Amino acid sequence: MIQGLNVDSALSLSILQMQYFGVVIVKIEDSKLSIVTTEKSENLDSFKALHKDKTLEINTINEDSFNSLIEYLQVEEQINKYKSSMLQEINDEITQDGTSSAMNLLTLILQESIYKNASDIHFEKDMNNMRIRLRVDGILIDRFLFEEVCFAPLSLCLKLIANLEITENSVAQDGRFSFNLKRKNGENNEFDFRVSTLPLIDGESIVLRILDKNKTILTLDNLGFCESQLQKLEYLYNLPYGLVLVTGPTGSGKSTTLYGMLNIIKNKNLKIITIEDPVEYRLQEISQVAINHKVSFSNVLRNVLRQDPDVIMIGEVRDKETLKIAIQAAFTGHLVFATLHTNDSLDAISRILELGLEPYFISQALSGIISQRLIRKLCTCKEKTDIGFIKKACQKCSFTGYKDREVIAEILLNDESLSDFINGKITKSELLEIIEAKHENFSLTSQAMLKVKSGITDIDEVYRVVK
Ligand SMILES: [Zn+2]
Repeated sequence: MIQGLNVDSALSLSILQMQYFGVVIVKIEDSKLSIVTTEKSENLDSFKALHKDKTLEINTINEDSFNSLIEYLQVEEQINKYKSSMLQEINDEITQDGTSSAMNLLTLILQESIYKNASDIHFEKDMNNMRIRLRVDGILIDRFLFEEVCFAPLSLCLKLIANLEITENSVAQDGRFSFNLKRKNGENNEFDFRVSTLPLIDGESIVLRILDKNKTILTLDNLGFCESQLQKLEYLYNLPYGLVLVTGPTGSGKSTTLYGMLNIIKNKNLKIITIEDPVEYRLQEISQVAINHKVSFSNVLRNVLRQDPDVIMIGEVRDKETLKIAIQAAFTGHLVFATLHTNDSLDAISRILELGLEPYFISQALSGIISQRLIRKLCTCKEKTDIGFIKKACQKCSFTGYKDREVIAEILLNDESLSDFINGKITKSELLEIIEAKHENFSLTSQAMLKVKSGITDIDEVYRVVK
């Protein structure tokens, strides 16, 4: 990490100059310059000669860190350029609103969000500033801080491209747009953005959800399941019929797991239909139905069943009617996958019992429950110590210490003891005792602790994810 980097000081050199001298100015203090350089820098002496009158504090960093620092400053330089011409346009009233530079600025912000692998972009305005935050690996990080006047032109641009009412600031609006952007590997792709605006007491909040149309599906064995869990998953997706529940809060990777399984079984010449809200990935050879506000899950599910499916995936079970049809489908020879918002696998049982179905009915139909979370992995900048790995910070992980996520899960197959619990013959704690005696490290917490031991994540992250 470049401690105390002052972007304005750094940008007193152009990117070309930084590359030529192999120098980045970290901070300027009166007659003292703090700089970083690399061992390879060939023109350091000419830089020194040019700054004879200054005291230089020189730190050497490795080539990789230097390059990612340059990459970071390149974005900052561009942003500054577009931002000042946008502000200039507003002042000069060349165009009425500064939208042409604002569009350039917006494009750059979208591009940066794609580079950072963000899932959402937040444009927020308070009394003095406008800030742009990105959700990366489930966590919001500050990315840009602009003057408050920058909000209006950017908000106008967003509303124009999302076909929203541009003069309407008093009601919430929803829209979407598509945009071509570059990936880190240089590939150009079209991305969908879902736009939501919300009026605030003194301003507006605009949030963009990024839907990556070309996202490749991760294969099941890359998601972080351990060997015995993969075997249980394999057993579940190979069943001819039954109900499989996937549970966890929003953003716990449930769809990724489901898509991973569907992607394997689609090769078995099966008719697979999904009902989703919204459709997150487009899957080949699988029929996907998007739910809209006007129709309910249960109605769509009835229509889907008339389509002679073998496998059905239901985005989310929210009501008794949907659950009832899902269970009937499982009884009549369909393999049904459904997601539920619950904390752990046993909560899922309580939740569906609360919906008011016969316990006997549920215990007969249910094949298994997958409960999961996503846990952030320590970035490669982590450091090995006597007590294990500790997190560090670098440009690559936006100084958070974490990069990318993987699954922690508990997978419960239906057996006699689970049936006993569903039918009220044993309590939750009695069942837990039986499970833990049978499977070591069953719970989400023990699974997470295994990942701490092997240096994949750290204890802070475990506390954040499994409370
Ligand atoms: Zn890092």
